[in-house]
Amino acid sequence: MSGRVYIFLGPPGGGKGTQAKKLSEEFSLPHIVMGDILRNVVRTGSDVGKLAEEYLERGLLVPDDLTIDLARERLKRDDCKEGFILDGFPRTINQAEELEILLKDLAHSLERIIYIWIPLEVALLRLSERRSCRECGAVYHLKFNPPQGDVCEKCGGELYQRHDDKEEIVKERFLVYERETKPLIDYYKTKGKLLFIEGKNGIQEIFENILSSLSGSEPRPARPAGG
Ligand code: AMP
Repeated sequence: MSGRVYIFLGPPGGGKGTQAKKLSEEFSLPHIVMGDILRNVVRTGSDVGKLAEEYLERGLLVPDDLTIDLARERLKRDDCKEGFILDGFPRTINQAEELEILLKDLAHSLERIIYIWIPLEVALLRLSERRSCRECGAVYHLKFNPPQGDVCEKCGGELYQRHDDKEEIVKERFLVYERETKPLIDYYKTKGKLLFIEGKNGIQEIFENILSSLSGSEPRPARPAGG
């Protein structure tokens, strides 16, 4: 096998992005964020970008054919040859099946699926105070990880609240997660590679939990789907 692949799975607001980034630094593997890839396509203003925007704005999943093409193109790049950490992909069974084919082509091994679960109330609290950088995508939380000033500490970019972090859209994203992404838990459970991680804890505690679960010889038993 030429590379190692880890997938972060779970509802919005569980901290997938934060934890995936930390793991990517720990393992020196690229952090591939499907939401950022799609937001970048939207920014181009192309027809494809306009199409993707309609879904992102409403908290719905972008159609599989487009998402899978974009993922495939990104994961075949040179920086991914030692493997990668996936954040936000796959989100449907169809995407998971396509990913499996791609991993076979690339001769990568799927090491673990890290499933971070939180209830809707916690997601709403977290996402309503989340601020993102328009330039580099860095993420802050007004209470738990506040920026030093009004702009991004890393690049000086403008901080803003994502449109889809507003309450009614977060609720929609949660429903979409329940309907379309949660079936992946059973899909991966049968492959015996799913780790269940409690997402209500603090950032460092969650990360230590992930590292210790990953270093254990056996994955932690996954709780029933839905937590
Ligand atoms: P995220 O930043 O991961 O919360 O994703 C933001 C939005 O991007 C989602 O609400 C979807 O509209 C879109 N998106 C991200 N990942 C996917 C995916 N794997 N499949 C389809 N749409 C996605």
